[in-house]
Amino acid sequence: MTSQPTPFVIAVDGPSGSGKSSVSRTVASTIGAGYLDTGAMYRALTWWCLHDEVDLLDHEAVAAAARSLPLEIGDDPAAPSVHVGGTDVAEAIRSSGISSQVSRVATVPAVRTEMGRRQRALIDDIAARRGACVAEGRDITTVVAPDAPVRILLTASEEARLRRRSLEVHGVSDEAAIAATRDQVVRRDRDDSTVSQFTVAADGVVVVDTSELDFDGSVDAVMAVVRAARAG
Ligand code: C5P
Repeated sequence: MTSQPTPFVIAVDGPSGSGKSSVSRTVASTIGAGYLDTGAMYRALTWWCLHDEVDLLDHEAVAAAARSLPLEIGDDPAAPSVHVGGTDVAEAIRSSGISSQVSRVATVPAVRTEMGRRQRALIDDIAARRGACVAEGRDITTVVAPDAPVRILLTASEEARLRRRSLEVHGVSDEAAIAATRDQVVRRDRDDSTVSQFTVAADGVVVVDTSELDFDGSVDAVMAVVRAARAG
């Protein structure tokens, strides 16, 4: 009897603008792995709450929405898809309205319990079907998949993260655009930090600092960590 290869999980955490989504997707494509964007799950829940006019201050109602969320999330790194109740929300969840509200939903403890449960099930399923899964977020290396064979904290200086997010959202990175992006990066990370530790690496988590790296350099740095773990 031939033994099945152990499913390989790569957990990537990091603050906004660290490049973790684009880098994780490219790494997943390169090694033929499936991909899970856990931030998209919190964004989808936020969209669902706003769509259903759930009061975000009513934590019990938000937690109930998390438990009943009819979410379908694709695992193809080349074409990530997110549907809620059959509606394609992939674009809508990237709006600044969702970005500015998502931390209010993600900081509800019962929401994190439910989302963590769903994320573990998805990671197991994706890794079993595709042989490997790259999962990215804020608490994947510490809470959701602390036993993953590869755990990476992707960081970058605040200046680099603001510049990147500003270019992504506004197409420029001048002073005005950076000021307009600040809430989405600095304030959101501060709020998210109250429930997840993604600024300092936990024991055994490898830090990849992308402040001085371009996109390809960031992918290469993460691939080096992945290759070393696979070889080991
Ligand atoms: O990664 P992204 O910016 O899309 O994440 C959106 C939000 O989802 C974060 O600001 C955070 O509030 C929440 N999140 C989380 N835990 C994760 C992933 C995302 O709390 N593992």
